[in-house]
Amino acid sequence: MARAYHTDVIICGAGPTGLTLAIELARRNVAFRLIDRSPQPFPGSRGKGIQPRTQELLEDLGILDRVVASGGEYPTARSYTDAGPIDRAATPPPPTPAEPYHLALLVPQFLTERRMRERLAELGHAAEFGRELIGFEQDDDGVTARIAGADGAETVRARYLVGADGGSSFVRKTLGVAFPGRSLGVAAIVADVRVDGLAWDVWHRWGDGTRGREFSLCPLYGTDLYQLMAAAPAEGEPDLTPAGLTALARERTGRDDIVIREVAWASAFTMQARLADAYRVGRVLLAGDAAHCHPPTGAQGLNTSVQDAYNLGWKLAAVLDGAPAGLLDTYEEERRAVAADMLGLTKRLLGEARAGEMRRGRDVTQLDIGYRGSSLGLPCPGRDKGVLPGDRAPDAPVTGAAGQATRLFQLFRGTHWTLLGYEPGTAAIAPRRGLRIHVVGGDIRDTWGHVRDAYGLEPGEWALIRPDGYVAAVTGTAGLGSIESLLDRVGVRPVH
Ligand SMILES: Cc1cc2nc3c(=O)[nH]c(=O)nc-3n(C[C@H](O)[C@H](O)[C@H](O)COP(=O)(O)OP(=O)(O)OC[C@H]3O[C@@H](n4cnc5c(N)ncnc54)[C@H](O)[C@@H]3O)c2cc1C
Repeated sequence: MARAYHTDVIICGAGPTGLTLAIELARRNVAFRLIDRSPQPFPGSRGKGIQPRTQELLEDLGILDRVVASGGEYPTARSYTDAGPIDRAATPPPPTPAEPYHLALLVPQFLTERRMRERLAELGHAAEFGRELIGFEQDDDGVTARIAGADGAETVRARYLVGADGGSSFVRKTLGVAFPGRSLGVAAIVADVRVDGLAWDVWHRWGDGTRGREFSLCPLYGTDLYQLMAAAPAEGEPDLTPAGLTALARERTGRDDIVIREVAWASAFTMQARLADAYRVGRVLLAGDAAHCHPPTGAQGLNTSVQDAYNLGWKLAAVLDGAPAGLLDTYEEERRAVAADMLGLTKRLLGEARAGEMRRGRDVTQLDIGYRGSSLGLPCPGRDKGVLPGDRAPDAPVTGAAGQATRLFQLFRGTHWTLLGYEPGTAAIAPRRGLRIHVVGGDIRDTWGHVRDAYGLEPGEWALIRPDGYVAAVTGTAGLGSIESLLDRVGVRPVH
């Protein structure tokens, strides 16, 4: 006889990945437990760059404004060179109707996580800190996990387990999934510090391009802290006390007026580039740093991790709601390839940073990440303009039929799929649970032509948008039947 389930999903790890997945499941009314072995939330600033694509995701989760208000824009970088200080301000291109966010934001990771926990509380859930996953086994029907806390250990039966438990993932190791790659041989220090003697409005950098001499202090807006990043000393264990870091500052900057008064959090680490061989083994999945790790150059880690969870969340909820379990295979198919590319990008940026010439181009924004060729998209032979299946679904300001200003992102916001028709006449499909249908020329107006420009749709064409904001299909009215078949496959069914 099948054993009873205590919950649907156990999420192991309440860092940014686990929290994002929890929000995604909570807003779809999926039962889950979110556990973390640490007695309290992570206190450090480490993943402090929030890229434009992640800002779009945070808008969908309903926390973008709160996250923005918790930090700020990246400050001007001031490099101290033999020829004197050189300031370099970031000059991102202006936002466009299709891409409303172009600036990377600087928000300490502990504040981003706090905003996520607040959102989770609004949805009626909380992370359980001080509870460690100490063992699990799976069978055809579910996963049985052992979870230890101060009050003893419990056995929990769930349908799925997600390892969002960071780079040294217990879940990955227990599964026996290999984590090939290599140490990059770069030892670094990152610390959150209170400092005397420095201007607050710039990111102070010394030793750029001088291997082993790098030292920087970046103000963390929303706090009174700086993030210190430095190459670790070549010899011995780094001294992470205020006195030790003050001595390092003096040695690297040649200044004795920079005093590290207090260390709120500090870590010494060796940079790695590794990618898990598999993201799913039966009913156990890996996400975030548990599946990939890489150097912090280009601020990609946290962003890639929360986008893993954003890709996985709706699929897991759909499968729990009756969609075929094969839908979960598209998670690894889509996200592992993204992580492999990102590993290449961060290694290249590390090389450039060490040569003193790092160029953060469009690729760090993650706006061009997509899933073309994914088995989830409907083939679209011959289409040579506008969006294609797998592409990120662009934003576009539009007006409602009553004349009010709105945006496609506002219409996409939530857990549903969206079918967008472009002046299709009378053609349509029947309503389904979990699908919203919007029609240009019907309930919305392409007043400024932004939908036409961004999507390249002709009158009579339709685009199907996934819950995570990627295009699944583009077709004429004759292809609406294939869109209905795709929706059947992902568990979005007609209402009888
Ligand atoms: C030193 C350093 C600097 C970084 N700098 C940057 C940066 O500048 N920009 C950037 O984008 N990214 C950066 N990153 C990466 C970024 O911090 C990570 O990508 C991000 O934290 C990944 O989130 P996660 O939720 O997957 O893992 P984590 O944040 O590591 O969270 C994993 C959680 O799992 C919990 N856990 C582990 N084992 C168990 C268990 N058995 N049971 C229960 N809970 C468990 C842990 O306590 C932890 O809270 C940096 C990382 C490091 C280590």
